[in-house]
Amino acid sequence: MLYILLKNFISERIYSMIENILGIDLGGTNIKAAVVTLEGRLVTDRTVETPPSREASDVVGAITALGRELLAEYPGIERAGIGIPGLVDLDRRLIRYAPNFPNWHDVHFKDMLMKELGIDVRLENDVNCFALAEHRWGAGRDTRFMIGLAVGTGVGGAIIADGELYRGRSGAAGEIGHMSVDMWGPRCNCGNLGCIERYVGEQWFTMAAREELDDPSIDEPARVSALAETGDERALRFIESRGEILGVVCASLIHIFDPEVIVIGGGISKAGEPFFRGIRKAVQERAMPLMAAEVKILPAELGTIAGAMGAAALTLAGDHA
Ligand SMILES: [Zn+2]
Repeated sequence: MLYILLKNFISERIYSMIENILGIDLGGTNIKAAVVTLEGRLVTDRTVETPPSREASDVVGAITALGRELLAEYPGIERAGIGIPGLVDLDRRLIRYAPNFPNWHDVHFKDMLMKELGIDVRLENDVNCFALAEHRWGAGRDTRFMIGLAVGTGVGGAIIADGELYRGRSGAAGEIGHMSVDMWGPRCNCGNLGCIERYVGEQWFTMAAREELDDPSIDEPARVSALAETGDERALRFIESRGEILGVVCASLIHIFDPEVIVIGGGISKAGEPFFRGIRKAVQERAMPLMAAEVKILPAELGTIAGAMGAAALTLAGDHA
């Protein structure tokens, strides 16, 4: 009896240790880590500052320290995923280009981290990681066709087609933020005119709100949301109209990808109901009714830890290098 109890106890311990996976989300300001069970339960999360030098060796050092700390606490972890704010090559070994880390060109991130951490490491673009987490464990669970949009400083996009991440020819697919909604609109950093990012990216959202509401005190999107929450009609109308612009893009996405769900996260999505009302209104007015009728447009569910959780989810994907 004692033997059986002891055996069960030991196997349970081993089972729970083996089940955990590690995800790390590298950002320009912070590095977030999440230890997750295979079922998507967040066991623990940590955040450290991104080394201000932003040099690859310093960043690898910071990720290694954070990873080793968690590996010591959760010894059953054998695989980790890392979300990168930039372009990862098709073999997912190199970071080809990351705008927040301007000195990085073809950095051998995977090999460096595998050597330091002594476990299998997988790399992926951070918005793809966000979408993987929402698809597996968040607002997009139980679907096979999902579009993920992360509306923050910029507008990131990711496409899940038939249950798999769609990466395109070079791994760069999903740049939905640079879909133009006005061929003569304002010029975007990417060179195109009228990109959706230029209307709902945080900086541009704030600037437009300041102008349209004629309120110089508006310095961030949360200010507009706060005004809207007090019942300010103009603020409400502004948020809804920005939602409508994103809705124009969503209508096109529905026509191109025929998704089951569009999941929208990131800072601006916190503008909440008026923003989503605007999106749904434009979709209803513009998308082909038969295609749009069944599509859900939902706020993301996992919050700011989604990127790290999705990086952990990478280790579960069978197709990955
Ligand atoms: Zn652009």
